[in-house]
Order: sequence, then C-alpha cells, then structure tokens
Amino acid sequence: MHETGLSEAIVAAAVRRAAGRRVTGLRVRVGGHPVDPEVVTQGIQLAAAGTVVAGAAVDLVLEPMTVHCHDCGRGGPVTDHLAMVACPQCGGVDIDVAGSDDVVLESITLDSLAGVELGAV
Ligand SMILES: [Zn+2]
Repeated sequence: MHETGLSEAIVAAAVRRAAGRRVTGLRVRVGGHPVDPEVVTQGIQLAAAGTVVAGAAVDLVLEPMTVHCHDCGRGGPVTDHLAMVACPQCGGVDIDVAGSDDVVLESITLDSLAGVELGAV
C-alpha cells in the first residue's frame, strides 16, 4: 500500500533528524493527490511504534494541487483524481495542473527535557 511506504519514510526522516532525542510532534506537508488525512496519520503512528517518534502528535498540512482550465478559465484545487484529467466545470481536457505531488517532513518538535538529559550523558 502506497501510504505505508510513505509513512515509514516520514518516520525514518524524523528519527534521523531527532538524532536520538525524543520526538513529541511531527509536521508533515502533503501535496498533490487527495489523501485521507486519517489514513496518513494512522500510518505514521504505526510506523513510529518502537522509535523515538512513538506517541508523537502528527500535524498534517494538506496542499492540494490546483487545476486551471483553458476552456472556461476555471481555477481551483484538485478535489479528486478526475479533476486532474478533465475540468470539473466544463469537462475540457485543456487544463494545467500546478503544485507538487510529494510528502515532506516539514519540522519536528523535540522533547526539550530529554534533549538536555542526552546532552549531559
Ligand atoms: Zn473548464
């Protein structure tokens, strides 16, 4: 399943960036195709089990791609896969799709107390 590999990649990136410190929060930017935020969040939490990211709050920032239609001039976010193929308003196929189709770990929140403890070791 696509989301599983994605979640593992996000968790792996967070673990690498945390460098042994405890992660209390993840901010993840999801661009492109419409995704179910619930599925992504659960996937990340599952993948995080047993790592320093376990139990971290997952904050998703959804950035859908936008479509501009040359036929009727309609512009707007992509709400489903069909909208990337034909204009939802006039059915025209002369459309431009803008935006990136990627999932990026934007930032992590570290447990500052744990970080201090680790620094003292
Ligand atoms: Zn149109």
